[in-house]
Amino acid sequence: MTGRLSVVGLGPGAEDLVAPRAHAAIEAAGHLLGYAPYVARVPPIPGQERHVSDNREELARARHALDLAAAGHEVAVVSSGDPGVFAMASAVFEAIEDGPAEWRAIDVQLVPGISAMFAAAARVGAPLGHDFCAISLSDNLKPWETVLQRLEAAAGADFVVALYNPVSQARPWQITRAFEVFGRHRVLSTPVVFATAVSRPDERIEVATLATAASVAADMRTVIIIGSSHTRVVDRNGPGRWVYTPRWTRVPA
Ligand code: SAH
Repeated sequence: MTGRLSVVGLGPGAEDLVAPRAHAAIEAAGHLLGYAPYVARVPPIPGQERHVSDNREELARARHALDLAAAGHEVAVVSSGDPGVFAMASAVFEAIEDGPAEWRAIDVQLVPGISAMFAAAARVGAPLGHDFCAISLSDNLKPWETVLQRLEAAAGADFVVALYNPVSQARPWQITRAFEVFGRHRVLSTPVVFATAVSRPDERIEVATLATAASVAADMRTVIIIGSSHTRVVDRNGPGRWVYTPRWTRVPA
């Protein structure tokens, strides 16, 4: 008998930003798999087996989960944010495409989560209110040349851009290169939002500009939103400022 595999998004961190459907899928699972810090976010459930692995082992984890589901178990794999955004859902389908025919009979359920860019946007206003794209700066799974080409294309097309995986210990320099690319296409007063550990107790939100961005601290828990030429900053009668991108785009004269 074939079991079920749920690929579940845990959102950015806060408990009340997890969908009820995610809780239900996790509670129903006899086996829970994921990167250790994500599994640690799920309170222990009696009788549930947990399998933690490193964040570079996504494909192996996906195969393990599919094996368990094919053997008839109810299985949940957890990701932070949304499982379809730079996360486990693609690894599961890659494994299915290349795997044994019986994996195609598994009931795979995707449970969406609030991705970091949406949680970050909601903290500052509506920076993603018009056309935008998301780019991972990590060159673990694609060549750095490709990252640069995509940054160049997105900057040239005047998208608002959400940058995931902006910094790691191995590649602290990439973010500077990214800002250089945008500096060639956009004015230096363009808003740049740094949102770190959004919705967690140590959350840090900073609204900078392309001119000051290089001096703002970012780490592996930061998502960066670079505004388009239309993105605006509005002073508040209170702490911080709003950042939004209007619904319209003016056709250049
Ligand atoms: N599936 C996740 C993204 C995984 S890639 C999602 O949809 O959000 C990991 C990257 O996500 C991190 O390097 C960081 O850029 C971003 N991220 C994840 N959680 C975050 C949070 N709480 N605050 C800010 N950025 C976060």
